[in-house]
Amino acid sequence: MFSRIASRASVAKTVLRRSQSTLSAGATAARVATPAAIGVAAAAGAAFALSQTEAFADKIEPVAPPPSPFFGSSAPKILDYTGKRVVVTGGASGIGLEMVRLFAQQGAEVFILDYASEIAEERAAEFVSDGKKVTGLKCDVSSQESVEAAFAKVTAGGRVDVLCNNAGIGHVGNIMGTEVADMERVMGVNVIGVMLCAKEAIKSMNADNKGGVILNTASIASIRPIKDRIAYAASKGAVHTLTMALATDHLADGIRVNEVCPGRIHTTFVDNFIKKNYPGEEKEKFKMLSEYMPNGRMGKPGEIAFAALYLCSDEARFVTGASFSIDGGVAGTDHPKLYDQESTVHPETLSTL
Ligand code: NAD
Repeated sequence: MFSRIASRASVAKTVLRRSQSTLSAGATAARVATPAAIGVAAAAGAAFALSQTEAFADKIEPVAPPPSPFFGSSAPKILDYTGKRVVVTGGASGIGLEMVRLFAQQGAEVFILDYASEIAEERAAEFVSDGKKVTGLKCDVSSQESVEAAFAKVTAGGRVDVLCNNAGIGHVGNIMGTEVADMERVMGVNVIGVMLCAKEAIKSMNADNKGGVILNTASIASIRPIKDRIAYAASKGAVHTLTMALATDHLADGIRVNEVCPGRIHTTFVDNFIKKNYPGEEKEKFKMLSEYMPNGRMGKPGEIAFAALYLCSDEARFVTGASFSIDGGVAGTDHPKLYDQESTVHPETLSTL
């Protein structure tokens, strides 16, 4: 029995050796000889032969993949928004402004819906002077009347293909530092605003049954706690579940709904927060907030906008109900900077641990 296996192993070795020399003779011949070698080696059950087979398995030419629709001379322009109409709320500043810039650059007609209407109009005029199609409209996303009026202006000229629910505000405070009015204000913009704009966009998308895309700007606070931000965290947690709920309900309508969860991004949002809460200590606080990030710096608005450009594009047609953290590693890495802070446990509690 043993001698039979040994003799088969020796046959396998011979075949393998021959196959190897055939390989050096030409890759085409190797494709024919190699399966034979594997067959004999397996029959013999000889570990040595198998390891040899594996050793040159990587020399087998892989089967050519099917041609990619995104590659070659007949490939379409990728991330092309020509003919698309895109609405960006809070597009007058920060992350929203960079989204507007990229969508317009890729050929979209873009509508900035912003509370700061003068700034929105100014920004739009700058883009128009650069040959882009951008309109600034006044809109308070927390007001149904205001949202309906703004969308009526947008849809007078055509459908909504893409909505980026990006307008958002913050509030600093734990539960003792948060009043009902603070909660209502933050929820009004960050949650009711998303709901109202989504409703208007979906009406337009469903009117001709051609589908569309909604992208919500949530936050890293949607999925992990941030100290002293109960109103903001609760609102962004609601944006997270609202995203998944909308994605579920409108799957059959061909409407994709996703969210981006930015970490700390350097915008006026952050500058105003530092100015308001740490007057006179702006530089130190900016440094501290940057160093909190696992990768040692805050993000840039364009780093979120590029993700938006992909997620709202036709190339992302298979992506819905998804959450994308773009946060310098906050959510996905175990980094001492995330917990290397003074203990906040009450000393009496600490002594009982
Ligand atoms: P930003 O302050 O630079 O821009 C926000 C824009 O929203 C402004 O143009 C503002 O006028 C507009 N806006 C505010 N209230 C509005 C309302 N009621 N109706 C219409 N427009 C309104 O802020 P940003 O940093 O670019 O933030 C954009 C989004 O990203 C927000 O939803 C924010 O919560 C989220 N986010 C920001 C960070 C960050 O570190 N900057 C991190 C995570 C998430």
